[in-house]
Amino acid sequence: MQEGRSKEEQLQAVARYYQHCERCPLHRGRTQVVFGVGNPHSPLMFVGEGPGEQEDLQGKPFVGRAGQLLTKMLAAIRLRREDVYITNIVKCRPPNNRTPTDEEMAACIPILRQQFAIIRPRILVTLGAAATRAIIDPKARITQIRGQWVERGGVKMIATYHPAYLLRNPAKKVEAWEDLQAIRAAYDALHHS
Ligand code: URA
Repeated sequence: MQEGRSKEEQLQAVARYYQHCERCPLHRGRTQVVFGVGNPHSPLMFVGEGPGEQEDLQGKPFVGRAGQLLTKMLAAIRLRREDVYITNIVKCRPPNNRTPTDEEMAACIPILRQQFAIIRPRILVTLGAAATRAIIDPKARITQIRGQWVERGGVKMIATYHPAYLLRNPAKKVEAWEDLQAIRAAYDALHHS
């Protein structure tokens, strides 16, 4: 990382560096690398699992059905997509939207680390089991760990359900709503600390 370059420029440089990445087999099925969207100056970062069909086609995370629900979840706590940064553990679409393998996630995690180093979020939200295991705890069960804050190196981390899971299990939205309110409270607390 160079001094003097904006966060936007630094992220663009990383995205450009990885645009032809072939570090794992997922590159074979992708239309394009789906890097991340949103505000790199935001203290709040959301990390999902990996691009689906629409994300692969449009080159942006969370723009399909699950993405529309994520947008609504953000709106429920008075945030727009442009107020946060949104990315995934793996940047290329897994075939038939299967869960990325440990090897694929390990191959891709250096990109997330660089995004993290540039953006330096204060609050990190993992969406679903894959992101939660990759970032918070490899043994985590999402039903048990969700809604519980973990603090590491000055970053508050919290897991919640993946919006695709909420589409299949709408009854779980009650718990997701609790998590979202906790996230909003932590976000508000940043402005008073
Ligand atoms: N599911 C994810 O985990 N990420 C996306 O970008 C879209 C759907």
